[in-house]
Amino acid sequence: MLEVRDIKYSYNNDYQALKGVSLKIEKGEMVALLGKNGAGKSTLFLHLNGIYEPDEGKVFIDGEELKYDKKSLLKFRQKVGIVFQNPDDQIFAPTVEEDVAFGPLNLGLSMEEVQDRVEEALDRVGMSGFEKTAPHHLSGGQKKRVAIAGILAMKPEIMVLDEPTAGLDPQGVTNLVKLLKELNDEGITIVISTHEVDLVPDYANRVFVLVGGELIAEGTPKDIFSRP
Ligand code: ADP
Ligand code: ADP
Repeated sequence: MLEVRDIKYSYNNDYQALKGVSLKIEKGEMVALLGKNGAGKSTLFLHLNGIYEPDEGKVFIDGEELKYDKKSLLKFRQKVGIVFQNPDDQIFAPTVEEDVAFGPLNLGLSMEEVQDRVEEALDRVGMSGFEKTAPHHLSGGQKKRVAIAGILAMKPEIMVLDEPTAGLDPQGVTNLVKLLKELNDEGITIVISTHEVDLVPDYANRVFVLVGGELIAEGTPKDIFSRP
């Protein structure tokens, strides 16, 4: 379970991007966070595994308060994996396989276990065969899939994806939504931000709406989209 309790966050002690946001996401849910550009979606997501520390408020993962020392962060980041909007912010290694291996290696797993996880994750996202490829040779959609594989290889309980469908062609979107639904069926809690509402009723069991750093609505897709 993931809980955000009344978090506030300002950039440069100036612009308040989050003005007291609270939400709870239960294990096994697949939720969508809707909001226009600038609403604060990315800022909120960066709080979900401690990349940002809120000015006020708290984050709880499985009932445990998020702490910001190195050791705690490693533990929480294994549970909550974030796929950034721009894969270039996430992919650094010289080859695809080294990139996907980065997280599992950090967990101190054996080489054999790391290899298994890398192969499995690349297979899941349809990127087997690209192990030795340099990420800069990949298309935007392929990079995104490698970024997702890197998170999957950590075997997270919760996956948070910032605008995962942005920039994909329709087939890429369909494939991605299918993959995320499968992962959700296997027990991974999924949190997606998007400003593309069309597909949301297809996958989300619950929707949150963020406007100007405040959550203004929360409900089933039916509740949210049938509002006058
Ligand atoms: P969204 O993901 O919904 O598009 P963001 O969380 O990226 O929204 O941004 C929320 C607000 O915070 C916006 O007004 C944005 O301009 C501002 N903001 C985001 N990142 C920074 C930053 N690094 N420095 C200053 N302001 C920022
Ligand atoms: P591009 O940026 O080149 O459009 P995409 O990721 O959108 O890259 O898709 C490239 C090809 O890979 C498409 O034909 C798409 O159908 C396929 N593809 C995309 N996602 C998956 C997936 N999860 N599993 C298998 N094939 C996929």
